[in-house]
Amino acid sequence: MANHDYDAIVVGSGPNGLAAAITLQQQGLSVLLIEGENTIGGGMRTIELTLPGFHHDVCSAVHPMAVSSPFFSSLPLEQFGLKFIYPDIDAAHPFDNGTAATLQKSVDATALSLGRDAETYKALINPLIEKWPLISNDILGPLHFPEHPFTLAGFGIHALQPATLLAKKFKTKEAKGLWAGMAAHSIQPLTNIATSAIGLVLSIAAHLHGWVIPQGGSQSIANALANYFTSIGGKIETGFYVTSLNQLPSSKAVLFDVTPKQLLKIAGHEFSSLYKWQLNKYRYGMGVFKIDWALDAPIPFVNEDCRKAGTVHLGNTLEEIVQSEAQSSKGLNPGKPFVLLAQPSLFDNTRAPEGKHTAWAYCHVPNGSTIDKTEIIEKQVERFAPGFRERILARHTFNTSRLEDYNPNYIGGDINGGIIDIRQLFTRPALRFSPYRTSAKGLYICSSSTPPGGGVHGMCGYHAAKRALKDVFDL
Ligand SMILES: Cc1cc2nc3c(=O)[nH]c(=O)nc-3n(C[C@H](O)[C@H](O)[C@H](O)COP(=O)(O)OP(=O)(O)OC[C@H]3O[C@@H](n4cnc5c(N)ncnc54)[C@H](O)[C@@H]3O)c2cc1C
Repeated sequence: MANHDYDAIVVGSGPNGLAAAITLQQQGLSVLLIEGENTIGGGMRTIELTLPGFHHDVCSAVHPMAVSSPFFSSLPLEQFGLKFIYPDIDAAHPFDNGTAATLQKSVDATALSLGRDAETYKALINPLIEKWPLISNDILGPLHFPEHPFTLAGFGIHALQPATLLAKKFKTKEAKGLWAGMAAHSIQPLTNIATSAIGLVLSIAAHLHGWVIPQGGSQSIANALANYFTSIGGKIETGFYVTSLNQLPSSKAVLFDVTPKQLLKIAGHEFSSLYKWQLNKYRYGMGVFKIDWALDAPIPFVNEDCRKAGTVHLGNTLEEIVQSEAQSSKGLNPGKPFVLLAQPSLFDNTRAPEGKHTAWAYCHVPNGSTIDKTEIIEKQVERFAPGFRERILARHTFNTSRLEDYNPNYIGGDINGGIIDIRQLFTRPALRFSPYRTSAKGLYICSSSTPPGGGVHGMCGYHAAKRALKDVFDL
């Protein structure tokens, strides 16, 4: 490698950039990780957004995919300061009448909150949990011939269904509502094919691992990954926003933790016409409107289980959630949006001054929408927690355009690096032998715009680095 400054360069330090850099560095290569911002982390940063002493997760807050990530689990991250906290209840889903369905580590406890649907839930989820170890590698990676095709097909029969179809298994509003909230993490109309996949994966992760929050916030995951990376010899340069390949030191491989739109700008001139055409056709999904609060007391949820849950899904019934997701995807702004809310300070006293609290929430909005949803989101919280507004000390909001300014990977506020619908589930960003390879030798894409998609798990970066190791370094 005498002719190169580095063996490999990774641009972008989100979970996938960090995972790629670590995977390359673990092979003894010389690796430089470049980040445009002054701090590393991408979607894993924790900042005093509102008042001094109140530490808010700017993006990711709840981490079922991090704790269940095969790659992160292979790293000694506790030795680098990462400690996961397990909320008493993973997620609660309140209804207007004051009841709530709950997602808990125990399948039986979850089923108990679903009334007459208890046995139906167990019959659906138990076989999937049992088979998960056999199929998780197939699901958390690029499209390939599966190790266990029949077991995977068993999962696929459920996962490929529109969430609204799978919901027909249930009779109660509790089970239907809880299910709709889980499936709505797919950020698309719940009538779309395969919207059951993400709901099932997140439910399985809850039962096998938990919807954990990191002590100190998601920045702790970033710090642990970065510190491990540098401990094995990796180098990090921050405050270096890459706009052209010419700015980079020389290397044999460059991996980009960016989405297709940015990749085209940085390296488009190196790509074949076909690949450029494919990247130009890549589709982004709905955006989010994000809000953080500093509170002088916990959120006064009517339902007691909601006061013990790390995550609360505010959307009431299946019908309401289906309608709000359909409207946002059509460019409308629903009056009662599905709100995802986390209350980390209930379980982690590092997040706020003594006796005070933080809360984090977002709802889906049309891509690129600059509407201010503060009023509407707070109304949804107030609906299930009367008196909430009186507890607000300060708030901070991001509309989609501020979110994209903060992190250029959130195109139009899309937090998944592109819609994860059936056409872009396994073949993101383009239908190719390897989705991580670009058409230019030595250039790779490793962000959540590649399989298995959005979330903090690092599996996109891991698989992209594995591809580069084989192609470029024969490793
Ligand atoms: C509001 C919100 C809530 C979320 N909640 C959760 C959650 O609870 N749980 C969960 O698992 N996931 C959550 N996510 C999603 C998660 O954060 C992302 O899926 C994940 O961070 C994607 O990782 P990535 O490595 O692909 O990209 P990113 O994390 O976006 O990192 C990309 C990095 O590359 C840098 N970069 C981009 N372009 C350049 C350039 N040209 N030069 C140099 N640097 C560049 C950026 O500054 C950024 O640091 C949330 C996201 C948001 C926004």
